[in-house]
Amino acid sequence: MKQKRFLLEESELPREWYNIQAEMPTKPMPAIHPATRQPLGVDDLAHIFPRECCVQELDAEHAWIPIPDEVLEKYKYYRSTPLVRAYALEEALGTPAHIYYKNESACPLGSHKINSALPQCYYAKQEGTTNVTTETGAGQWGAALSYAASVYGLEAAVYQVKISMQQKPYRSSIMRTFGAAVTGSPSMSTRAGKDIITRDPRHSGSLGTAISEAIELATTTPGCKYTLGSVLNHVALHQTIIGLEAERQMQMAGEYPDVVIACFGGGSNFGGIAFPFMRHKLSGEKQTEFIAAEPESCPKLTRGVFRYDFGDEAGYTPLLPMFTLGHGFKPANIHAGGLRYHGAGVIVSQLLKDGLMRGVDIPQIETFEAGLLFARTEGIIPAPESSHAIAATIREAEKCRQTGESKVILFNLSGHGLIDMTAYEQYLNGDLVNYEISDDEIAKNLE
Ligand SMILES: *Cc1c(COP(=O)(O)O)cnc(C)c1O
Repeated sequence: MKQKRFLLEESELPREWYNIQAEMPTKPMPAIHPATRQPLGVDDLAHIFPRECCVQELDAEHAWIPIPDEVLEKYKYYRSTPLVRAYALEEALGTPAHIYYKNESACPLGSHKINSALPQCYYAKQEGTTNVTTETGAGQWGAALSYAASVYGLEAAVYQVKISMQQKPYRSSIMRTFGAAVTGSPSMSTRAGKDIITRDPRHSGSLGTAISEAIELATTTPGCKYTLGSVLNHVALHQTIIGLEAERQMQMAGEYPDVVIACFGGGSNFGGIAFPFMRHKLSGEKQTEFIAAEPESCPKLTRGVFRYDFGDEAGYTPLLPMFTLGHGFKPANIHAGGLRYHGAGVIVSQLLKDGLMRGVDIPQIETFEAGLLFARTEGIIPAPESSHAIAATIREAEKCRQTGESKVILFNLSGHGLIDMTAYEQYLNGDLVNYEISDDEIAKNLE
């Protein structure tokens, strides 16, 4: 019998996260304060985020950051997640490639987001915070944060993009199940929200409006901190638990990946699986290829430019050096809501600039074709975001079929799609479309 599934014993779980910043050949350029134009320090961020997260955000010195015991205890409820050899998918593709996936859909709430929600809430609790707030679009991050807040006895307030709240009603029920207060954004509960509604009474909300409201709540409420589910360095740091486990599990399988693939929104699940393997490329031991799969309709890695830009629509955040389509970019309404973000995290942007990884952009319909094949072969319905990684994997496996090479491909299954069935329904009914974007449109946004 061929072994399909690899799990770690509790005693084998990683006890440190990997901070790639410390070992990058070119360190990321600093985030800049929009008013003073000076590089940001911990004190510029600590009124918004838990202080320990700010320290981690700016740490370019320590390669290994201990996971607090209290977080490790919570990780043990669900980690390790399985590493699976996708024999059935390989067979369906007729490829000599060996395909493995790290199954983060087995995490509580069904995606990798909980891996960072737990430490962020833990650090908030440690410093005496009583409340946490955040924004959410499709709801994966909001759900993970709501659960993590309840684990550490914090009150959570989540601003959810109003249109998503209406289109995907069960997402807010999930957050409320864990005790979070959920408000549709824009709302009348903040100044930013009131201003937006005054200007446009029928505004249906965006991540930009929700971020603005959550930051305002955090900075005007004593004992309240803001949390973010992607893009920032400390979030990718927490997610390296994925790749560190996968490295040990690949050893159990007796293989090492030639290609590592993940879908790309802000970069947290990509960094999570890729960075631990990339350290062996940085040291010259391995030649692994790293591929980040983004939507054709939101192609910041493949068609964006590298420059300083804001992280949000309103321009409240620091200026970040990143690959971006412009902070005013309005991505098409694809079903992979978690990938509809205009910019890439600072670390990944530098790695891309240095040629240590590459991006690939994939049309929506191809991602659903890939998702369906994966569901039918491996028995897991993938999140529309994760289907981008599957589609990129299938492209690589197809190349192997043509050349006869038996490469080892590892991809991250960032989440399951059981709360995305309206998207599958549309695909199955033949109602789904692709959204191409012209060079002119991209150029106009970057002006
Ligand atoms: C949020 C999300 C993503 C995208 O975010 P990253 O920070 O780029 O990982 C991908 N997949 C799932 C399932 C998500 O919930």
